[in-house]
Formats: sequence, structure tokens, C-alpha cells
Amino acid sequence: MTAPPLLAVEGLTKNFAGLRAVDGVSFAIADGTITGIIGPNGSGKSTTIDCISGFQRPDAGRVLLDGADITGRPADAIARAGLIRTFQAVRLYDQMSVRENLLQAARPFQQVGWVADFLRTAAMRRAVDAAEARAEELIAMIGLERYRDAPAVILSYGQKKLVALAAALMPRPRLVVLDEPVAGVNPTRIREIEEVILRLHAAGETFVIVEHNVEFIMRLCSRILVFVQGAKTMEGDPAAVQSDERVLEAYLGI
Ligand code: ADP
Ligand code: MG
Repeated sequence: MTAPPLLAVEGLTKNFAGLRAVDGVSFAIADGTITGIIGPNGSGKSTTIDCISGFQRPDAGRVLLDGADITGRPADAIARAGLIRTFQAVRLYDQMSVRENLLQAARPFQQVGWVADFLRTAAMRRAVDAAEARAEELIAMIGLERYRDAPAVILSYGQKKLVALAAALMPRPRLVVLDEPVAGVNPTRIREIEEVILRLHAAGETFVIVEHNVEFIMRLCSRILVFVQGAKTMEGDPAAVQSDERVLEAYLGI
């Protein structure tokens, strides 16, 4: 028997008051890959990842992480299971430093449950030490050593996007889902974010990236899913997607 894919989505469906936002979407994500999701505005990309990450409850379908059914579980449970997502709008604590923001992101994952006090203390200390080491490693990965102790509020929008990306990686997730990681970011910073994602990918991270910037997706991803009106219209490598009639039609109306 072959191992199950890292993530399997089967027949995912979500309705909003009579509108079918996601319509029977199925796909699988292999460990160690970067997969892109593109599609026009309102095509169901965000709702799909909301359903996968537990921020919306699907009306039908299944989501399996490493073969375990996580369908409809709350977001914090899914995050603990190893699937973390970022949001289009960056969520940072403005007055906390970059380092503190990263440590804060690890905190919900550090609860060690009910154990004898001396055990709890030792385990907590180990978890905090590990988080501090992880934060330093990620600050170096995103190239923001100079801003390590600076409050997040002084960072540029692109730098905040990098910190949000690092925060998602703090608990060492199995799969990271990024919703529009370069929306509103200037071209130089887009290249920087791209390099950081490639560096993290080389270190073994698995990504699913929802993005409007098609060129960015084409450069980064080995596989791309194309959404149109709530359905996955096609999937393939960048060359196949670029030459697909349905994609041209959805984007250019031809
Ligand atoms: P995308 O991310 O591809 O732009 P969305 O998943 O955000 O698309 O939206 C898909 C459709 O669902 C759109 O028609 C949108 O208006 C609708 N929609 C999304 N979220 C909600 C919601 N919370 N309530 C009602 N309709 C929603
Ligand atoms: Mg969206």
C-alpha cells in the first residue's frame, strides 16, 4: 500500500444562503510540494482553504490530513494536527517585537496537559527553549535580523507578510496554507517573499498558496489548481495551465 497524500480533499462543498461557493472540489497534496490555487475573484479559493483549515464548516465532503479525518474540526484542533494557514490581512501584534510575535505564535502549542508540577515545569521550559531557537532560526530565514527587537508596527507591509509567514511556521506544521501572500506587496518584496518560500521549501516545508499574482504562482509552484465558479476546473504544471483554454477563458473572457 502506498502512503496517503499529506492532504486529501474529497468532494468539498460549501453553500452560503443559496450560493454554492465551493462545489464538490477534490484534490491531493503530496508532502514536500508547493501547490498553487488560482482563479478569478469569488471563485471559492478562500472558502476552500477556510473549510480545510477549520475556519468554515463544509456542508459536504471530506478533508484528510495524513489519512486522519479532520473534516469540520475547529481551527485550533486542525492547527495542532499540523495544518496552519495565514490570512490575506496580516494579523500581528503591532507593539510586540518581531521575536515576540513569533514566540506568541508558538504559545497555543506549548500546553503540556495535566502532569505533575515538576514535569510540567520541565516540559514547559523545554518547549519555551525550543520556541526561542525556532524564532531565531526563522528570523534569519526571513532576513529580518535587524528588526528582531523592533515593534511590528514599524515594518513595511511586505516585511509584515514575512513575519506572518514565519509565525505560521513556528509550531513546525506539516502543511502551510498561504492566502494571498503577496497581495499589495511591491515587486521587490514579492521576489524576497518568493526566495523565502523557496528556502523554506528546500528545508522540507510543504505549501499550498492561494494567489492572484499568476506570475508569482507560475514561478513557485510545480502544480497549480485552477478554480472557476466554485469548482476546480483543471490542475496541472505551469506550462499546462498557461496553455489551457478554460484558464484563458476564465481570465481573459476569450
Ligand atoms: P475567492 O477567495 O476565490 O475570491 P471566496 O471563497 O472568498 O472567493 O468567495 C466565493 C463566493 O462565496 C463569493 O461569491 C463570495 O461572495 C461568497 N462568500 C464568501 N464568504 C462568504 C460569507 N462568509 N458569506 C456569504 N458569502 C460568502
Ligand atoms: Mg480570497
